[in-house]
Amino acid sequence: MSNPLIPSDGVYRLSAHKLNMMLECPFKAYLYLSHFPEGPSEDCWAKCGSAVHDYAEDMTKGDLKDPEYYLQKYEVPQIVPGMGINLHDRFYKCIENVPKFAKLDGAIPEMTEYTDFVTPKGRKVSLQTRIDLQVENSTLPEAKGKVVVDYKTGKDVNKEEYRLQARCYMFAKGGEYKALFYSLLSGKYFVIDKLPEDYIPKMCDNYIDHIENRELERTPNQNCDKFCPYREKYCAPNVYFQQLVPPGTETEEVEEDDSDNA
Ligand code: SF4
Repeated sequence: MSNPLIPSDGVYRLSAHKLNMMLECPFKAYLYLSHFPEGPSEDCWAKCGSAVHDYAEDMTKGDLKDPEYYLQKYEVPQIVPGMGINLHDRFYKCIENVPKFAKLDGAIPEMTEYTDFVTPKGRKVSLQTRIDLQVENSTLPEAKGKVVVDYKTGKDVNKEEYRLQARCYMFAKGGEYKALFYSLLSGKYFVIDKLPEDYIPKMCDNYIDHIENRELERTPNQNCDKFCPYREKYCAPNVYFQQLVPPGTETEEVEEDDSDNA
């Protein structure tokens, strides 16, 4: 029986976003990879994050526009519904810290790369990474020399999912660059400068094991209610939803989506 989540050309197109999703909840990864329609979710945070990232990219390129342009382009609402948090204030607070990075000598913004390799279990992988900023000779007190920087717009950067993302970037750069993850909102940060051997290839094998063994179970967690776009349609208490592709069921093959929204 064919498994529609195994790529027909034998190359798994992975990203930190997909690896994290599989770790968080294999069922969510299954819905995402199978292109099930998402329900409503709180995307105003993502809109604010996109506006900040676009602003930072344009500043690094020397093509900066008025801040209001970015708020309008991404339709960032002023207030988070039901929470009273002012997202425009958050945007302005974040962009105050962008010059610290955008003005670094030799800064290169927004690069997407694909790293091809074979895992310890012999699977072919193409790992997509999208790096906010690469710096050849950083003079930042947080991390000097060769550094890749990821901007965060939330207060807290101390998250396991971010550490995996940082390791994906280091892996893509062959271990030559440190990874600096920095909250433009709070100034909190972490730096990773060592990458355990085979860490990312083993993570990829773990991901592929789930796919090939059809281990795609629901794993309720703290992000379900607020951040999972599938909750309302597939996991809410009043919805009884059976996994649509139980082990051994044959369905039409689907393409993976390579976008990395992390
Ligand atoms: S709501 Fe929770 S259990 Fe359901 S798919 Fe999303 S993350 Fe998984």
